[in-house]
Amino acid sequence: MKLLVDERDVKFVLHEQLRIEELCKYPKYGGFSQDLFDMALQEAEKLAEKEFYPSNRDGDREGCRFEAGEVKVPESFHRAYQRYCEGEWLAISDPPEVGGQGFPLVIANACIEFFGAANWSLFMYPGLTHGAARLLQEFGSPQLQERYMHKLFAGEWAGTMCMTEPQAGSDVGSLRTRAVRLDNGAYKISGQKIFISAGMHDLTENIVHMVLARIDGAPKGARGISIFAVPRLRHDDDGALVDNDVACTGIEHKMGIHGSATCSLSFGENGACIGYLLGRENGGMRIMFEMMNEARLFVGMQGLAHASTAYLHALQYSKERLQGAPVERMKDAEAPRVPIIHHPDVRRMLMFMKSSTEGMRALLYLAAYCIDRVRAAQTDEEKERFQGHVELLIPICKAVGSDLGFRVCETAIQVYGGYGYVTEYPVEQLLRDCKIASIYEGTNGIQALDLVGRKLTMKRGQLFKNALSSMTEILEKIRNNFNLRELVAIYEETQESVIQVTKFFALKGMTDEFHVPLLYAKPYLDLCGDATMGFLLLWQAHIADRKLQEIYRDHRAGDDKARQEILTTNRSAAFYFGKIASARFFINQVLTLSHGRARAIMNSDKSALEIPEYGFAL
Ligand SMILES: Cc1cc2nc3c(=O)[nH]c(=O)nc-3n(C[C@H](O)[C@H](O)[C@H](O)COP(=O)(O)OP(=O)(O)OC[C@H]3O[C@@H](n4cnc5c(N)ncnc54)[C@H](O)[C@@H]3O)c2cc1C
Repeated sequence: MKLLVDERDVKFVLHEQLRIEELCKYPKYGGFSQDLFDMALQEAEKLAEKEFYPSNRDGDREGCRFEAGEVKVPESFHRAYQRYCEGEWLAISDPPEVGGQGFPLVIANACIEFFGAANWSLFMYPGLTHGAARLLQEFGSPQLQERYMHKLFAGEWAGTMCMTEPQAGSDVGSLRTRAVRLDNGAYKISGQKIFISAGMHDLTENIVHMVLARIDGAPKGARGISIFAVPRLRHDDDGALVDNDVACTGIEHKMGIHGSATCSLSFGENGACIGYLLGRENGGMRIMFEMMNEARLFVGMQGLAHASTAYLHALQYSKERLQGAPVERMKDAEAPRVPIIHHPDVRRMLMFMKSSTEGMRALLYLAAYCIDRVRAAQTDEEKERFQGHVELLIPICKAVGSDLGFRVCETAIQVYGGYGYVTEYPVEQLLRDCKIASIYEGTNGIQALDLVGRKLTMKRGQLFKNALSSMTEILEKIRNNFNLRELVAIYEETQESVIQVTKFFALKGMTDEFHVPLLYAKPYLDLCGDATMGFLLLWQAHIADRKLQEIYRDHRAGDDKARQEILTTNRSAAFYFGKIASARFFINQVLTLSHGRARAIMNSDKSALEIPEYGFAL
């Protein structure tokens, strides 16, 4: 049994639900085909299993070492990273002009699921490098692109994102790193950054940092922030590589992702650190916003990847671990011991993990697919519509992917029982590694504020209306499916709850109770996440139901007994049955709570705001 990703489900989402082959009709993806997509997935799986996965456990045990200002990554990371770069994976979805393979992002993300499930700590290095390379591609001068971008896309050099400072975490606008204009058009950089992933390491000779800083004299707050490429080694006037006065002052000792170096960096301690402006002066935040969608989706993928492998590990364990008697012979001491997958409570946990992981996969792949539709669009209208979907989906993908991914990992530990809690088994590491996803790249609280404060109000709520109308088009077809009518009814109630809360927030936002939407932004995001995943699972159930009926028809299986027989012998039938089961479970167990959750929000309880600080605890 495969333990990283359910490859069959990946293909179901890509080919049977999103039908991504249709992307090949667009000139941008004209050179691709379903075979090429599948080949990429197969190769990603191979590399993930052979090279990434074996180094995951010792990466966790060994961690990174900080020695005399240098950082050493776990030994086994070197070979796996090398293989990743040789396979040209880093630029898989970038255009050939930058050395990329030009695949759709949705395929790149499906590959990320394999790599991330195998070893997220290791995957952080190329992941961040890709973000830095994209910044140079979009906003770097031709010279910067020539000198740095190609090497980043090839993975020969690495990249980082340097935003956080001790006093500037969520509040990036409070940063103090300085940039001073020089006569030659470059800038002198000085300041301290903390928590910088991959800030220093020995995987590559050079690291190019993307640093947020304020040019002397620029406005206070977010409006005065610019972004600079600051290489660890820069080119001097003769083109030779020289030290650029970037030092690592330490690394964090943290809960998880031990193989990913989290560094404190000092820029310009000796007054000799040079940075190169990207885009315009004071345009740093706008640039970050433009790049944010991919970065946030990337973090949501972390949660999915961890959930994916945690579920498969727990499933395998539940088939092997013998404990207790079958429920029908509970009191019979002579009864044979059964694998724990026979126990109803374990099955409930497995179904929670299965349906959540499949819902997240559909959600995150959908967001990537919408980005592909933006990139491939041939009319402004098409582009705008899909961009709108992306804007709404991203904060949900980031927060739901990370929060639910963590809950799936936690449930995996529960399935393992005591063995899940000890380091001998893999799931405790997955839980530790997963947690950070809800914190970095904008905490999930900040994602919720983005959804409620920015995305809902964009274009006077039109993004929300467009999303609903796209869903309604698909829902029309599902409504005709008699087998799913009860699930459709529950989903429609949920959708109505989301609409009611959205209107409620819009009204509150115009009164002196505007803090209510802020107070309950996160529960609202969770509600939207459940509704969207419920919708996607319902859609999947509709596809699976038609396929399953076809199989029954082909096998002339008219009665329950014949159908039962097919389900035990025909893997496709079992898979489609499993898809319908996921939708039934999620919609019945999760969406039925939506009405209560909506009511909880609209009760507008303000106890959290009204309680005096000393009322929390004396
Ligand atoms: C392992 C690791 C890797 C990281 N990698 C990077 C990296 O590569 N580059 C980088 O720049 N940074 C990185 N970070 C930093 C990370 O992005 C920050 O930790 C994160 O943005 C939160 O900032 P903070 O820790 O200062 O928390 P704070 O901003 O102090 O937040 C604390 C709490 O207050 C809440 N909060 C804060 N402000 C508000 C508000 N206005 N409204 C509502 N709630 C609010 C937050 O949601 C959170 O719950 C990393 C951090 C870690 C731990």
